[in-house]
Amino acid sequence: MQNVYDQLPFKNIDGGAWKQGFSISYSDTQFSSQPLKVFVVPHSHCDPGWVKTFDRYYSEQTRHILDNMLEKLEAYPKMRFIYAEISFFSMWWQEISVDKQRRVKNLIKEGRLELVTAGWVMTDEANAHYYAMLDQLIEGNQWLLNHIGVIPESGWAIDPFGYSPTMPYLLKRSGFNNMLIQRVHYEVKKYLAEEKKLEFRWRQTWDHSGTTDMFCHLMPFYSYDVPHTCGPDPKVCCQFDFKRLPGGKVSCPWNVPPVPITPQNVADRAEMLLDQYRKKAMLYKNNVVLIPLGDDFRFDKAVEWDQQYSNYQQLFDFINNTPRLNAQAQFGTLSDYFHALHERAGTAVNEVPESYPVLSGDFFSYADRDDHYWTGYFTSRPFYKRLDRILEANLRGAEILYSLAVSYARKLQLANFPEKQLMQPLVMARRSLGLFQHHDAITGTAKDFVMVDYGHKLLSALQNMKTVITESAHFLLVKDRTHYVYSSTRPFFDVDETRSTHDSLPAKTTIVLSDKPVPVAFYNSLSHTRNCVIRLYVNTPHVEVHDPSGNVIVSQVDPFWVSNEEMSSELYKLHFVVSVPPLGLASYSITKTAVGSNHKNTLGSTTFLNSVRKAKLINNAFLIDVFDGKEFSIQNSEMTASFSAATGMLKHVTSKSSNQEVDVALQFLRYGVARTKEKSGAYLFLPDGQAQPIEYNKPFTRVIQGPLVSEVHVIIPNVEHIVRLHNSPGLDSLSLEVSNIVDISKETNKELIMRVISDVQNGDQLFTDLNGFQIHQRKTYSKLPLQANVYPMPTMAYIQDHHKRLSLLSAQSLGVAGLQSGWLEVFQDRRLSQDDNRGLGQGVLDNKRTPTKFRMMFEFLKEDAKSPPNQAAGYPSLQAQLASSELIHPVHVLPVKNPFGSSAQLAPTFQPLSQQLPCEVHLVNLRSLQGDTAELEFIPRQDFGLILQTHAADCSLPTRGLTCPTTAAKITIGSLFEDIRIKEAKSSILSLTRSDEQSISLDTAFELSPMELQALKIKFS
Ligand SMILES: [Zn+2]
Repeated sequence: MQNVYDQLPFKNIDGGAWKQGFSISYSDTQFSSQPLKVFVVPHSHCDPGWVKTFDRYYSEQTRHILDNMLEKLEAYPKMRFIYAEISFFSMWWQEISVDKQRRVKNLIKEGRLELVTAGWVMTDEANAHYYAMLDQLIEGNQWLLNHIGVIPESGWAIDPFGYSPTMPYLLKRSGFNNMLIQRVHYEVKKYLAEEKKLEFRWRQTWDHSGTTDMFCHLMPFYSYDVPHTCGPDPKVCCQFDFKRLPGGKVSCPWNVPPVPITPQNVADRAEMLLDQYRKKAMLYKNNVVLIPLGDDFRFDKAVEWDQQYSNYQQLFDFINNTPRLNAQAQFGTLSDYFHALHERAGTAVNEVPESYPVLSGDFFSYADRDDHYWTGYFTSRPFYKRLDRILEANLRGAEILYSLAVSYARKLQLANFPEKQLMQPLVMARRSLGLFQHHDAITGTAKDFVMVDYGHKLLSALQNMKTVITESAHFLLVKDRTHYVYSSTRPFFDVDETRSTHDSLPAKTTIVLSDKPVPVAFYNSLSHTRNCVIRLYVNTPHVEVHDPSGNVIVSQVDPFWVSNEEMSSELYKLHFVVSVPPLGLASYSITKTAVGSNHKNTLGSTTFLNSVRKAKLINNAFLIDVFDGKEFSIQNSEMTASFSAATGMLKHVTSKSSNQEVDVALQFLRYGVARTKEKSGAYLFLPDGQAQPIEYNKPFTRVIQGPLVSEVHVIIPNVEHIVRLHNSPGLDSLSLEVSNIVDISKETNKELIMRVISDVQNGDQLFTDLNGFQIHQRKTYSKLPLQANVYPMPTMAYIQDHHKRLSLLSAQSLGVAGLQSGWLEVFQDRRLSQDDNRGLGQGVLDNKRTPTKFRMMFEFLKEDAKSPPNQAAGYPSLQAQLASSELIHPVHVLPVKNPFGSSAQLAPTFQPLSQQLPCEVHLVNLRSLQGDTAELEFIPRQDFGLILQTHAADCSLPTRGLTCPTTAAKITIGSLFEDIRIKEAKSSILSLTRSDEQSISLDTAFELSPMELQALKIKFS
């Protein structure tokens, strides 16, 4: 795709009737040898939340659509219908009678109703992480298999605002044969239409063999509504949307209404419509044409079914009975269309036709008209984008630990682990996370009250996942598991943090220490050993920390600040380094000690800059200094980071191991909104020019230093900004942590960004990730407006020259751009007073205090690898990949709720894996599968879904700081786990709906392919 972008002039030339295209002509002979096959595909696009909440859409619209669907498909045997969102469909299914369920199954079996994609939602593809994209696909596809017994074969994504190649990959490996997309930049559509490449084999940029090829149909015109689907002329097509017949609620904006089809006018009308079909067919090969017939929440009234059916069927009958027209038209499903196409192309339905071109890349960033780039939604409502990732980390952590607990309980034949009580909240959390992947949810493009509704669902799921984690951890870590007792009212572990409302920042739980040791457990959901600095809140600065073996370890206590210069005398931040086994648990204990009795406990020293205070002081045993120089620095074993005292901001970093310096300054800036008629909103970013620096002078700054953590706190307008260095034997030492609490709730029409200005000479090239799954090279084009050069950054971006690479790892999805060489800028929040005319009908004014978190990594290329990458795919170094996983999946802190009231003793550690997995292998999920009937929906089955991903790393960067083996991505399934052994493993498609008959060998090393996801269905002995 980048070659296409390099070539295109982006001139936005008026194409006539097809405004963004060109005039299409055909000759009479074009359709004479091979008749034109037309499939009109009725559909209804149901957003699971947008201008109404999910539940209100269901009760007011979707249930009627589905009720009518059943009645009318039965009444009209030639009618067809496709439907996508299982979140709604499953809700309806629960409500209808067993007899109706049977009739729906019949319609599906007969191919009159098709469930397309059948994900929980039609997922956003810019902000969503592949974990959640796959999870919602599994949830929907599993539901469909369990309740109806079918596995979908065609993908349908008409509304996501740009498309990522991660989706065709997930679909391909989930057994899909074909897919359809729609919202692609109008100039790209025009180019692909001219080249007859609107149908293509979508190949992953990293795939050199073509095994990932997915057959994809791209819709050519402006929209998926009826005026833009029958052919190039919307004025004509609108006349064939029979819901718009005069007297109805909707009409045609082109001022020519539809007329009912009668024996008198059918010949004229059919020729008029067929002309549009033929013109559309000219853009594709093989004389088969797909005509979607529908729009948002269509077919909710019985009369619309009658109007569309009877008028279209008359047209079809006329066309089919008029040989000179040489066309065959009918209602069809999406798969009917693809089957006919495959037949014409001479390929089996599950093969990818080789006669179609190969296309690699993605479809970001999307513009639907003019300079209206949909790059605002990469950042809109960042509070919820962060909350999404926090739930994701907790859900994934809960899935894995719960599956282990269930397996241990079964092996030990213990009935005390509450597998049924915890499975239901687990499934509900999958569905809440799934719902939020919808293209108006995680995108931040729903109404305020709809975002609140999502927020409640996310928070409730998050709280439930903390319970699943703490109960599973308690069962697994208790010394004698027969002593474990489940109590929903008196849990053994406390939560690590609480949130008073869905939109408040979390408050960390204070651990109350005394002279008896208080245990705290830690859970590591990653498949390699974690060594990292942990921060807890405690009630005394004088402590002693014991590791699982009982040794006293180094600790650091820092003040808790209640205001700029005032520290709490009741609350302190305790840091120490934990080492937690892969997928395992470790218990540490902390004791309050006498002042100064533990020489391994250090109190952090604080320096104030730009303070009113002029002299040193000692407060509550902490030393506070004042500083009025120009530059100051903090350091750890890896690097020294230097800051400007005038701004409090990072200026440069020196790597100790390579003795190289990187100029890297941070700056906060703002964009305003364009002074044109059209302005920025939830979807669109239309800035008023270059970003302007946030102005301030000599901000109050705190510098806190100690053996484990050193950090700089700066308070500037709109942001509390912290830069932190950890000192541990783990990966957290290799990067600089940057965290912000952003608040622009008092501003007007403002977008806040954090810009990194470095001496990396990357020119116009940068790399950004897609869905945390893969990395693509981007170019900043001067021929495009500023807003076109913004990309989604779900997990990371980097810039690189001949010598070094600067990576920015992100804990949440936000927009990113690299507008000049050496720059990376990340959007932090946007506040916009107006609607941007895409149907939402409001601005974005519900801004909250929003946390954002990043890690900045500096790496130097190997001596013998000094050529700049010039490839479509980029790869992080192995340590950057793992550091990103650690950032997204932090160690879970499990304080004991009532440390002296329980007799259940904790074991020092729990280590389920026989050894850590190779560094290249990421354990995506260990998912308990649901039973295959409605009654068994919340009962875990005997088999589990194990999903692994294999990273491909950039070898031009040296490998550093890793404890896991880096030899090869090979695992021996049979000896993966220590106490619970896998007795059977079958290779499965990613949706876990179909697995091989044959088991894979348990005792030979199983090789995983780079970049691929591998799903296995496993059973423990
Ligand atoms: Zn939609």
